[in-house]
Amino acid sequence: MAARQDSDPRPVSRLAGGIEAGGTKFICLVAKGPEHIVAQTRIPTTTPAETLERTIAFFRPFVEAGQLADLGIACFGPLDLNPASPTYGHIITTPKPHWDHTDVLGTLQRALGVRTVITMDVSGAALGEWTWGAGQGCNPLLYLTVGTGIGGGVILNGKPFVGLVPLEMGHIRLPRDPSRDPFPGHCPFHRDCFEGLASGPALQARFGQNGESLPEDHPFWQVEADYIAHALVNYILTLAPEKIVLGGGVMRRAHLFPLIRHKVKTLLNGYLHHPAFLTDVDRYIVPPTLGDLSGSLGAIALAQSAATTA
Ligand code: ZN
Repeated sequence: MAARQDSDPRPVSRLAGGIEAGGTKFICLVAKGPEHIVAQTRIPTTTPAETLERTIAFFRPFVEAGQLADLGIACFGPLDLNPASPTYGHIITTPKPHWDHTDVLGTLQRALGVRTVITMDVSGAALGEWTWGAGQGCNPLLYLTVGTGIGGGVILNGKPFVGLVPLEMGHIRLPRDPSRDPFPGHCPFHRDCFEGLASGPALQARFGQNGESLPEDHPFWQVEADYIAHALVNYILTLAPEKIVLGGGVMRRAHLFPLIRHKVKTLLNGYLHHPAFLTDVDRYIVPPTLGDLSGSLGAIALAQSAATTA
């Protein structure tokens, strides 16, 4: 990590609790950062009552020992992230059974009695990579996950960007050539949006197997890379991120990266005269470096940041 400067908005190192609350599991950490993890656990996501109770039980001893005063949550959603709303920190609606309207923030805050902050899961992963990972200090940083779903988090001036509603970068429309890809799409709202075409479930629906087992020389990978590249070009032209980190289960297939980078350069066609899109694209579009802890570490960073600005 580069030396800190006084103007550096990154949070100071301070012990905090962090949760990546996902649809299949909750990853819980007590840590100062990736080099200083005191405790961690993984709790399967079942009912809200059971899952949150086990989460509270994990953190409670640290709170009672006076070691933990701040908790960050990077949660699946969509979430209500308007602090003025009576349902701030609630999950709004979700296809995940039982979790509609769950008060994630309030339940944890009341039970543990610590300062508690919440953001979207992908924003948490973005913040983790911005603080300690592949996108340190980039402004803005775009983190895109391509996995069970597709979503993007943007870190602007050191904070997760929140608009009128949470960003839904997985649901943009992309050009689809039915002669090359006859699959009609998997999104229940838009069919052939980005997520409907390129997420893990879309691959599963096309081939009866997920992206992990599809052979590397399968011709579909070029189609997949082209979809992701088209989306990235749209984000580059509208957000001009300083770096793009691509995470999620599908992106664990590392052979996608060179295909995506090449297609991004081809689509931009020299239009943008920055080295990021010409000679330095290998350093511009990169994998995460925090493994599956991007989100939970991002939650730690969120908690630390809230503590220092309170
Ligand atoms: Zn969609």
